[in-house]
Amino acid sequence: MKSNSSDAPSPQDVFDAYCKYVSPSFAALLKFMGFDAVEESAQGAIVRDTAGNEYIDCLGGFGALSLGHNHPKVVAAVRAQLDRMPLSSKILLNPCLASLCRRLAEITPGDLQFSFICNSGAEAVEGALKLARIATRRPGIVGALGGFHGKTFGALSASGREIYRKPFEPLLPGFSHVPFGDTEAMRRAVTGETAAVILEPIQGEAGVIIPPDDYLPAVREICDAAGALLILDEVQTGLGRTGALFACQHYGVTPDIMTLAKALGGGVIPVGAFIARPELWEVFRDNPLLHSSTFGGNPLACAAGVAAIDAIIEENLPQRAAELGARALARLGRLRQQFPEAIFEVRGRGLLIGVEFGHEDIAGLVIAGLAQRRIIAAYTLNNPRVIRLEPPLVIEEELLDRVLTALSESVQHTMDLLQDVPSEG
Ligand code: PLP
Repeated sequence: MKSNSSDAPSPQDVFDAYCKYVSPSFAALLKFMGFDAVEESAQGAIVRDTAGNEYIDCLGGFGALSLGHNHPKVVAAVRAQLDRMPLSSKILLNPCLASLCRRLAEITPGDLQFSFICNSGAEAVEGALKLARIATRRPGIVGALGGFHGKTFGALSASGREIYRKPFEPLLPGFSHVPFGDTEAMRRAVTGETAAVILEPIQGEAGVIIPPDDYLPAVREICDAAGALLILDEVQTGLGRTGALFACQHYGVTPDIMTLAKALGGGVIPVGAFIARPELWEVFRDNPLLHSSTFGGNPLACAAGVAAIDAIIEENLPQRAAELGARALARLGRLRQQFPEAIFEVRGRGLLIGVEFGHEDIAGLVIAGLAQRRIIAAYTLNNPRVIRLEPPLVIEEELLDRVLTALSESVQHTMDLLQDVPSEG
């Protein structure tokens, strides 16, 4: 792979290796969108490629980079732990695990108290689903159409988009899906056989869908009346992204089980978690290893998690997300007024923002235009008409302004291009 004097592989080498060993079609997609440069280093909201170009990261690693790249406090905590003991013996007490679980109990709402630490969002969802089934001894899980919970079998079974589900059927039995935001549909779906309802408080990958204000409180009541648990998946919305530490706090609702990941790793190490009320944890009393993971709760990851939580709180990032998000939404609203034929809707909360275009091809061309202007952006996984703006919460205002200016230029350019395309027939 090494091809030049600086020992760095050339962009062509990396592209060829992607084609040969990673995924030819993904490599082609990145090239088509203009993202076939090779990343080399990053700091805050800026990513540098091997040619020395700088990009503003507005995708933030699918929302994992709330603290930006290489946050100094998280990096320092991880470095210190790396020198002491990166992986646990798994049999002596792990102080980093204890600290992270204590910190999660302190910051999560209500009486959420016990945590299981794992390595990804999907794993957190798997654990939450298993806990719901064993704690209630019921089989049913109700999810939402368009919902995204990850791509392992359980998480995929809970997710609501056919394109990702269909090829892997049969998925797990007992799962059903209802339209997100529809209280009556939820009331009909939840029965005495329902172990849990699993929802994102604000749907991310569905295209940033914000439910009516009374939806989550109503779902909480429906679950309580049926003796079902409420799992809120805050993997994407958690830890400040939407302008509150947890999105469920906008609605005054506490779940029985919450899942977290993404920002919990501070942008440095993968970390996931599910956190539950103490009564539920009773199911692990007889066998605490009923659910376990070799790498889950490792000291490096837990050190990153504690440092990430501390930094998010010390730097008041939920409020920063709320303020920057409100400004961005106002500006995007004006952009929509300027291009009503291209932009269908702009919506969001905090720095989880979706710009929905009339057609996915327009969204694709706008993303390519952003790439040309060195802005990293992408569409939401369950709705390719929506470009997500999910920058680090630490992004400088001036950089966010540059992103919005680039977006406006890219929409203008795309519409000019489309005007020049001769119409069919
Ligand atoms: N849950 C939600 C709400 C997500 O947005 C995601 C990923 O985007 C996941 C779960 C899965 O997380 P991971 O990709 O870390 O498995």
